Amino acid sequence: MQEMQRISPTFYVEAGLHEITFRVKASVPGGEQYPRLSKISLHRDGESMKSKEKYIYRFGDHAAEGDESMRDLLGGKGAGLAEMTRLSIPVPPGFTIGANACRYCLKHGDLPAEFAGELAAAVCRLEESVGRKFNDERNPLLVSVRSGAAVSMPGMMDTILNVGLNDENVVGLAERHGSLRFALDSYRRLLQMFGSVVLGVPKRRFDATLDSVRDECLIGAGAELDETALEQVIERFKHAIEQHAGRPFPMDPREQLDMAVCAVIESWKNERAQHYRKIHNISDDLGTAVTVQSMVFGNFGNDSGTGVGFTRNPSTGEHVLFGEFLSNAQGEDIVAGSHTPTPIAELALAMPEIYRQLVDITSRLEAHYGDIQDFEFTVQKGKLFLLQTRSAKRSACAAIRAAVEMVEEGLISRAEAIRRVPTDAITEILSPQLDLSAVKMQPIARGLAASPSSATGQIVLTSERAVHLAGKHRENPVILVRQETTADDIQGMHASVGFLTARGGATSHAAVVARGMGKCCITGASGIEVDEAAGTARVGNCELREGDWISLDGATGRVFQGKLPLRSSEAADMHLETLRTWARETPNAKVRANADTPEDARRARQHGAVGIGLCRTEHMFFAPDRLPQMRAMVLASTLEQRQKALDTLLPIQQADFEEIFHVMAGLPVTIRLIDPPLHEFLPDREEVKEQITQASSHGTSAEEISRLEGVLQRIGQLSEVNPMMGHRGCRLGITYPEIIAMQVKAILQAAIKVGTSGIEVEPEIMIPLVSCVEEIRHLRNAIEIAAKEVFQQQEKTVPYRLGAMIELPRAAMCAASIARETDFLSFGTNDLTQMTYGFSRDDARKFIDAYLELGILQDDPFVTLDQEGVGALISLAIREARSAKKSIKIGVCGEHGGDPRSIKFFRSVCVDYVSCSPARIPLAQLAMAQASLEHAL
Ligand code: PEP
Ligand code: MG
Repeated sequence: MQEMQRISPTFYVEAGLHEITFRVKASVPGGEQYPRLSKISLHRDGESMKSKEKYIYRFGDHAAEGDESMRDLLGGKGAGLAEMTRLSIPVPPGFTIGANACRYCLKHGDLPAEFAGELAAAVCRLEESVGRKFNDERNPLLVSVRSGAAVSMPGMMDTILNVGLNDENVVGLAERHGSLRFALDSYRRLLQMFGSVVLGVPKRRFDATLDSVRDECLIGAGAELDETALEQVIERFKHAIEQHAGRPFPMDPREQLDMAVCAVIESWKNERAQHYRKIHNISDDLGTAVTVQSMVFGNFGNDSGTGVGFTRNPSTGEHVLFGEFLSNAQGEDIVAGSHTPTPIAELALAMPEIYRQLVDITSRLEAHYGDIQDFEFTVQKGKLFLLQTRSAKRSACAAIRAAVEMVEEGLISRAEAIRRVPTDAITEILSPQLDLSAVKMQPIARGLAASPSSATGQIVLTSERAVHLAGKHRENPVILVRQETTADDIQGMHASVGFLTARGGATSHAAVVARGMGKCCITGASGIEVDEAAGTARVGNCELREGDWISLDGATGRVFQGKLPLRSSEAADMHLETLRTWARETPNAKVRANADTPEDARRARQHGAVGIGLCRTEHMFFAPDRLPQMRAMVLASTLEQRQKALDTLLPIQQADFEEIFHVMAGLPVTIRLIDPPLHEFLPDREEVKEQITQASSHGTSAEEISRLEGVLQRIGQLSEVNPMMGHRGCRLGITYPEIIAMQVKAILQAAIKVGTSGIEVEPEIMIPLVSCVEEIRHLRNAIEIAAKEVFQQQEKTVPYRLGAMIELPRAAMCAASIARETDFLSFGTNDLTQMTYGFSRDDARKFIDAYLELGILQDDPFVTLDQEGVGALISLAIREARSAKKSIKIGVCGEHGGDPRSIKFFRSVCVDYVSCSPARIPLAQLAMAQASLEHAL
């Protein structure tokens, strides 16, 4: 072997008029050489381009220049055809013009100069391959010209069939195939498609012509046009084209092809396609590929036909060949819905051998791609051809069932099944749906889809009326419509099947509670004005009265007038259960629940939560039988009075904790100490004033009036200008240590009692709204004193962990020192978002919609975590906390813990778990499993 020599290269550039050549100076034995490294051609406009770019790729006839991996270039259709060629599946030969040609066109307004030559060569090759020539008068080559982007955009762009026919060769085609009707029918289809797609003649012009010829020739709707009628149609179509386009239909097949290719490329820019891309977030720069394929004909007679199918039922996922077939027809007859096709199963009787082949080929395709295929086929005189195969669009139910069954059939791995099911499918399948298929209605209002599922019920405007109208056993469905909801509405919310509020966001009280209850909720619905006194609510343009029916679509935030039917969800689906088990078994995909009551805890456990990540203790006191004791505690003006009230609350709270520990046996339960400002537990100031006025005029006792005045005074003392940044969170615990002492006592006494009965308990005490490490030190001390007292009294101990919520920017910045003092941290992303943005959680709706519309915000930051700002704080805090204490456990318990996109981020920064409301657990489990699989790659 020749010895390698180390050289110090010098680069040279050789600039010519049309190209630049890069060379390197190399010292070799015997002198110096300047071998060429690379050559770059210059375009007319001086732009540089690497050596000649290829635009056209052939397929079919046992040869394919491409495969599935080139989907970005060849589009779904082109890649599928290339791949089918490689699998020796019969596809009519042709070539695909790559999306690079379209992209060039988008940029320069024209196809590249070298394209015409490449197209001419591709046409020659195709002519050789099929043994027919364009414009051969006896046996012309006809092609289809179809669009096909990398991302499926069904029906958005254009297709032209039978390109290559003209007045002369249509006769040859008829003679060759012994059917003038077939040839004329093919020609009129070309005129119709070419006229509308390439020359812009309105489609209705052609339809009207077809109708009038039918009338004149007395041919009924649905019956086939005979030869005479077709000849008339062709003449009138040509006339219409000339009249509308100002030029005759091109008789030269090559000119037809060139024009058709340009028109299909241009169809990337049509309004439909643009709109579709916008909705589905598809980049405008991708461009479409164009597939030119030799025609096969399904309209040759009864041994021919065309069909579309799916390898599994796309609505149910059932593993049966599903689709439709139409004999003696061309593809668009099925798609356009102009004919009624027969179920594909009937093909087994009509053409058993073709059916057998189709089953065989499509099962091979499904196994090859490992996914449900949506395919198109044509039978031409007893011979089967596949025209297209692609991954099928499917319902939520089908997505889940097919993914699970494909694992069982050995087609895909469990991980792939988890990756494949969109998280939306879980939301969709688990929530009852409004059946909008039966009715065509416009919504009367729109708001924020704050909690999925749907509801239909009679409107009620107050909590009391909700309870009353719903009935003792909640037998009447009612929807609570409020300007906004407060803690006082909890009873009404419990009684209702759904809530609609004019104000509030996705993390506002109504939304949080609704999700917790698994009920439908639409918040921040503009155009709603509730007049409780008059008993009316204006919703959009409708004036509604209590008792009127409305329906809420929680998935989209739409409000409808009337009682719309609901179709039940398929929550008990065994495939869903299997998928969820696999998701739960995925490493590092822990999901806990935000559960405030034993009832919530039971739902959380049923859903497979691995613990409770947030128990908001104050929610326990909103229950109607507890609120009076809580109010007594808040109204207390002396420590003694407060302690007395706390003593009555202690057993209530302890009983709840006992039940929760029972339900969550063996799993951690994070209990957050009291968080909201105390005035939230008091009645509304205006209501109390009104009560005083009423009491005075009705001769109520002086004692009662003075009690009410006391309440009013206390409301005044406790009310704050900005309660969200006021006397709440750990600040309450610091200023009212007796409340904290009671809560710690209730937690630990409950843990000891349940633990003694042989059940494993894992209590975690969490301090809310921490801003500095000194607060933790102070409260830790208070908690330890209370714990010591319990342990001494009970003569037993129970291990517990102490943690802090990171929900203030300052806490995030100081995460290292907070971590040193705690066992775990949990990000309260609702407050962290509120405090980082300075957007009030309850008032931000006023401008967030405008921000979203103007593109100032891409997403509502209270729904999907803002990764750039809030996320940056979270990453930094996690890094700092783990560097200070490697073993620290870190979770998320804000509403973002149930949002798939946010979950992906949380997993990427290595949180140990996310916690969300019970109803969202299945969704979060799948999202967390998907994120973990992605993170492990
Ligand atoms: C949070 O702020 O994210 C949180 C979980 O606490 P809350 O919503 O109760 O303020
Ligand atoms: Mg909070």
